[in-house]
Amino acid sequence: MSIPDLATLHALGPAQQPTYPDRGAVDAAVARLRTVPPLVFAGECDELKNKIAAVARGESFLLQGGDCAETFAGVTADNVRNKLRVLLQMAVVLTYAASVPVVKLGRIAGQYAKPRSSDLETRDGVTLPAYRGDAVNGFDFTRESRVPDPQRLVDVYNSSAATLNLVRAFVTGGYADLRQVHAWNTDFVRESPVGQRYEQLAAEIERALTFMQAIGADPDEFHRVDFHSSHEALVLEYEHSMTRIDSRTSTPYDVSAHFVWIGERTRQLGNAHVELLSHIRNPIGVKLGPTTTADDALALAAKLNPLNEPGRLTFITRFGAGRIRDGLPQLVEKVAASGIDVAWVCDPMHGNTFEASSGYKTRRFDDVIEEVQGFFDVHRSLGTWPGGVHVELTGDDVTECVGGGEELLEIDLGNRYESVCDPRLNRVQSLELAFLVAEMLRKA
Ligand code: PEP
Ligand code: MN
Repeated sequence: MSIPDLATLHALGPAQQPTYPDRGAVDAAVARLRTVPPLVFAGECDELKNKIAAVARGESFLLQGGDCAETFAGVTADNVRNKLRVLLQMAVVLTYAASVPVVKLGRIAGQYAKPRSSDLETRDGVTLPAYRGDAVNGFDFTRESRVPDPQRLVDVYNSSAATLNLVRAFVTGGYADLRQVHAWNTDFVRESPVGQRYEQLAAEIERALTFMQAIGADPDEFHRVDFHSSHEALVLEYEHSMTRIDSRTSTPYDVSAHFVWIGERTRQLGNAHVELLSHIRNPIGVKLGPTTTADDALALAAKLNPLNEPGRLTFITRFGAGRIRDGLPQLVEKVAASGIDVAWVCDPMHGNTFEASSGYKTRRFDDVIEEVQGFFDVHRSLGTWPGGVHVELTGDDVTECVGGGEELLEIDLGNRYESVCDPRLNRVQSLELAFLVAEMLRKA
């Protein structure tokens, strides 16, 4: 099996692509990427696919999270460790509450390209090309920095390799030890006023772990975790040149990440992104916004997973807190009725973004929780499984989303706003979300 070449994909008029000024430089970057070793192995992608198949069956829960946009400067040990730590802490809480395995999937080690609502950005009367992520151009608001540079695609590869190397070391080298992760949660519950509300759940986990220890159970799983990488497959040059034919199966895999997804702005049927991802064998996702009809979802499933392979397809819905209860049921109902095998995941971030009066892009913590609650309620009433959550978060104490137990206000946003794109939940907000979703899971 092969994949369409880049020229064929570009002939489909893909949205959200950089306009590179120098074709020769693009060809050089693509040629370089075609020779680099894979970041992930096809067999690992298959393992993840099996795990997502369990999510679709209602036997697992998916936690997908990380930055809206990673940056090259953000590839530091502290940054990667903090993100990983908060994800692992969340996963322990969710695992206990759901009583099923939690599939851990980072928006990490490749999440460098961003779709934008406008091609241009104007500041103080100066208009320049919009920032499209470190994969494409620079965040600095200067003419030189905003020119798309294909060498950056090679930098994406190198930064992803460095990140993934660290992640793999952390999750297998003792850092992810269950006792340790639980101890961090205990600290959160003990030391922060926000955490105290979740004392009871933390105490239950403590008793469960103590019991396991008392009976002498010490399985390997206590000391290491499975963690997978994901990003939006956006820049065709990158995803195409990172696609390899797997020697075991002679089929193509995008070896830049275990899981890739198609964004809300590039999911049109017949579009280049849908075409390319229909050919790779990784588990894949599609973001579905509030304008998605049930027929759109059925057509996407037919194109992207014609054989209805379990675990292959995840629908990541992002309706907004005010629309999910009205919009989601018809989608889920028709998809379920047609027998399509799919994992349903809730992205409670992208339908809830607004601009604060200070000009910062932000989200309300309560809206995020309300959308997850709506997602659980809809699935519960239809008898389908709310398979997971997809969140933008960081392990640092940033001030990008308002609300939460710390009651962050709009005037606080300027204190520590570090995202180069969408606002992320900070460490405390992320842990709080995990405890609140845990409560929803227990009721489910
Ligand atoms: C994102 O996940 O950062 C994103 C741009 O999402 P969406 O495609 O759903 O808007
Ligand atoms: Mn985003």
